[in-house]
Amino acid sequence: MADSSKTKLPFQAEVAQLLHLVTHALYSNKEIFLRELISNASDACDKLRFEALDHPELYEDQPELDVRLTFDKAARTLTLTDKGIGLSRQEAIDNLGTIAKSGTKDFMSKLSGDQKADAQLIGQFGVGFYSGFIVADKISVESRRAGLPADQGVHWVSGGAGDFEVNDITRAERGTSITLHLRDDADEYLNAWKLKQIVGKYSDHISLPILMEKEEWKEGENDQPGDMVKTGEWETVNKANALWSCPKKDISSEQYEEFYKSISHDYEAPLAWSHNRVEGSTEYTQLLYIPAKAPFDLWNRDKGAGVKLYVKRVFIMDDAEALLPSYLRFVKGVIDSADLPLNVSRELLQESRDVKAIREGSTKRVLSMLEDLAKKQKTAPESGEGKIDVVDKNATPAAEAAAEYADESGKYAKFYAEFGAVLKEGLGEDMGNRDRIAKLLRFASSTNDGVSMSFADYKARMKEGQDAIYYITADTLAGARNSPQLEVFKKKGIEVLLMTDRVDEWALNYLTEFDGTPLQSVAKGAVDLGKLQDEAEKKTAEEAAESFKPMLEKLKEVLKDKAEDVRVTTRLVDSPACLVVQDGGMSTQLARMLKQAGQPAPDLKPVLEVNAEHPLVKKLEGSAHFADLANILFDQALLAEGGLPADPAAYVRRVNALLV
Ligand code: ADP
Repeated sequence: MADSSKTKLPFQAEVAQLLHLVTHALYSNKEIFLRELISNASDACDKLRFEALDHPELYEDQPELDVRLTFDKAARTLTLTDKGIGLSRQEAIDNLGTIAKSGTKDFMSKLSGDQKADAQLIGQFGVGFYSGFIVADKISVESRRAGLPADQGVHWVSGGAGDFEVNDITRAERGTSITLHLRDDADEYLNAWKLKQIVGKYSDHISLPILMEKEEWKEGENDQPGDMVKTGEWETVNKANALWSCPKKDISSEQYEEFYKSISHDYEAPLAWSHNRVEGSTEYTQLLYIPAKAPFDLWNRDKGAGVKLYVKRVFIMDDAEALLPSYLRFVKGVIDSADLPLNVSRELLQESRDVKAIREGSTKRVLSMLEDLAKKQKTAPESGEGKIDVVDKNATPAAEAAAEYADESGKYAKFYAEFGAVLKEGLGEDMGNRDRIAKLLRFASSTNDGVSMSFADYKARMKEGQDAIYYITADTLAGARNSPQLEVFKKKGIEVLLMTDRVDEWALNYLTEFDGTPLQSVAKGAVDLGKLQDEAEKKTAEEAAESFKPMLEKLKEVLKDKAEDVRVTTRLVDSPACLVVQDGGMSTQLARMLKQAGQPAPDLKPVLEVNAEHPLVKKLEGSAHFADLANILFDQALLAEGGLPADPAAYVRRVNALLV
């Protein structure tokens, strides 16, 4: 069959890798392929409906949208046919041969080859169309894009290995038909009852009708066994009502969860959801979900938000950044407006007062969902004990309620571990809600394990006379915990919050106080413990500083290229020296991070603070190796906070010279 239009093309390397994984790792939950394909069909119909608002001719006199599901026992095929937007030849090549999501390559490189672990990870990625290969060893797609002439149809076929083939065809019907050639062990899907069951489980609530051909029992003739035969009549096998438009009381938790999975391509159930009809000057319905797991590309701030915008049930767009601020980009869901015009454009979206009101309302709704989870979160046990996971089989109702509470109680910690760092961006991004966001933040502290301390908890534990919330930022928790800057705080039993997220430094620029108490970095400016330091201590420190003055001058001179200033400090107990930055300055840690990321960062010279009581510092006086010791002091202070000496070799040489 010579055909000049026939082209064989290789899959993008990442697709080939994904396909391999899909067929090997996702085997334990095969049936989700149907949800994924139906969800794609539903998106295709949504897109058509939207494009047809301006171009009604795209309906080609067939405005009815549905998906038809058929199977052929003899041929061992399963076919899904939609009347959606369809694919042009180029779209088939692009969309079914490559993955456009940015960061895919990085993501793929993280997969280990361990099937179980990878199956978990791949869930965060979403396999969509390619999940068909879980049950099929060949997939054939026939499609025609709405609006194109019949002779510009496309046939795409692949065995799911390294390549696929495309071919021009004539196709009268608009939309896409996907035929799965089932693997030998996928017989169960050649059964109407089984298919209906899967549709009911995963796709009951999408607004698109899913149709199957009715069957009836036919007795066998001449002693042959009877069988189900198709009648040629079609019946709708799902409820086909948009879930969010149903009354809450009619929707079960399972239905909410399945709906979430079908809009998010997530494999895990969400942590929480909120479903509301908002009335007033702007009317809309919101169904918002908090996922349990971060997607692989959470840190890509440019990716479209996970909330789909509908206007009176008509899908408008899912790149609805206008609907939620970027720091809530982990939220998934649907917003359906009763007020927006159907032909709303992206530009209009950004300016519309209704959209602004929706955005504000949805932001507040998400924050209150989080507050709710936080409220149910059990406060961290004082020590390691107290994990609630054993449930008595003979539980009384009260014990059952407690068990349920235990279930709810871990959710905020779970949420925070996945999305806490993103939420912090809100401090800089959403001034109006800054206080609410600040209340939702959790930290580790110098006297408490785990990331569970809120600012309010901290305040409640502050010492008599303490008038600031102390914190330190560092690359790692261990680095923060062992930082020399903490020494005096440890000695005095003052708790310090340990912040190790990359965004902390930036985000905290926007939060100078919490509930009237100023936030103070222990690594910035001169240490001022205020009333926490007694008069005698202050006096000793002042005297030490005075008598140390000549030495400071010498140190300043030797280190003038490295240190902005050298001064005596009371913040150190065991360490000889540490580095601090000027109040309001960028921390050395942030500057280092920016440089590593290839971003411009000011060349900051830190202040070297020395502990005049330390033997090493005392040794400086009259030392023949003054310059070497001074440099070692500085470089060690840098090492202690996770930095590297500017000239590591020189540092090693100096230390070695002293060791010998
Ligand atoms: P995703 O749906 O997450 O974008 P998929 O791998 O499921 O990823 O699908 C890739 C693309 O192929 C879709 O974005 C869409 O453009 C196209 N596609 C898939 N199924 C259909 C369909 N039934 N009709 C039209 N286009 C489709």
